[in-house]
Amino acid sequence: MSDFSRRNFLSAAAMAAGAVGMEGISRADDYGDRDREKEHGDDSEPIPTFRYAMETEKGRHTEGGFSREATVKQLPISEGLAGVSMRLKPGGVRELHWHAKAAEWAFMLKGRVRTTVISPDGTSETNDFEAGDVWYFPRGHGHALQGMGPGEAHFVLIFDDGHFSEFGTFGASDWLAQTPPEVLAKNFGVPKSTFAQYPKIEAFIPQGAVPSEKQPLPLMGAQRTPPNTHKYQLMDQEPRKFRGGQERRVTVKEFPVSVGITGVVLELEPGGLRELHWHPNADEWQYWIEGSGRVGVFGSHGRSRIEEFSVGDAGYIPRGFGHYIENTGNTPLKVLIGFNSGEYQAIDASAWFASNPIDILAANFGASASSFDAFPHRRVFIAPKEGASRDGEGESK
Ligand code: MN
Ligand code: MN
Repeated sequence: MSDFSRRNFLSAAAMAAGAVGMEGISRADDYGDRDREKEHGDDSEPIPTFRYAMETEKGRHTEGGFSREATVKQLPISEGLAGVSMRLKPGGVRELHWHAKAAEWAFMLKGRVRTTVISPDGTSETNDFEAGDVWYFPRGHGHALQGMGPGEAHFVLIFDDGHFSEFGTFGASDWLAQTPPEVLAKNFGVPKSTFAQYPKIEAFIPQGAVPSEKQPLPLMGAQRTPPNTHKYQLMDQEPRKFRGGQERRVTVKEFPVSVGITGVVLELEPGGLRELHWHPNADEWQYWIEGSGRVGVFGSHGRSRIEEFSVGDAGYIPRGFGHYIENTGNTPLKVLIGFNSGEYQAIDASAWFASNPIDILAANFGASASSFDAFPHRRVFIAPKEGASRDGEGESK
């Protein structure tokens, strides 16, 4: 069989094995398959790297702070999500801007930040954030950030489009610099000389004065605040605890404004394993906060890849790809994870196996039915160093 016909055969066989009958394989399905090949790479090709050492890049520096990013440019596999590590000095302003292509979800690692966001319905909100807090700005909603001090603020931004950066982020200073002063004078009803000293190119992160603790009023006086807040205090949440680690998770259920992104902080003890699983509905983007470990990805058709991660790395798992995360270091591991869906979905291997009739498992793996009694009888989720127990790890409630 030629490579081409073998691939078509495998693709047809895979579809026949699913719920789709042979008559379901239409031209439209063929096109769907081709789209998937574009998204996840040709299935006859090895899985490309899914790790990017984000914090080793130089980044973009201006006087008030700097940022480093992981988009499809730095990590080509990451079509569905991108991330930015940003630091603001006290008073540094990530200027007024919006993202045309993506929603923005953020996790505060250090320091304090004040944000203001406006929605198309005219409501706006100003919030102060500290370590462990999360914000979410829907796609296209205008926002600005400022470091509040004392000390530098550090946070990780996650966007639900791997292409969010290039041609997708619109800054206020850039816009004003690109608009004739006569138009600005008419628009704002002030002399055009007002704009002579404004930045000629995008300011990005200019330096300002350290803001006062009390939020100064906006020009319109009181804000009309939105029904759903943009702030969620993730690290105040009681974690799901397991013998090998713990997890905090924020979906649209806990944080109603966050319709497009779910966030997780996963902590694994040395030797702990986030078990084999996949996400039916979302891609996964990772930022490694503390510790080191190993990620194994399974990409179907005999393809797999294992990579070693450490602090400051970004990682990406395409939707539907099998994977696990193992703490291979001697210290606790902490990983920030974002999914491009407000709903969390995962299927864990232990629960999957434990849900099937035992004779099917026996036939599948050519083993005796009795040998499966030693397997976990319910979900493991996180296995400890010494291995999962037969009762599964469950979740302590
Ligand atoms: Mn932004
Ligand atoms: Mn996962």
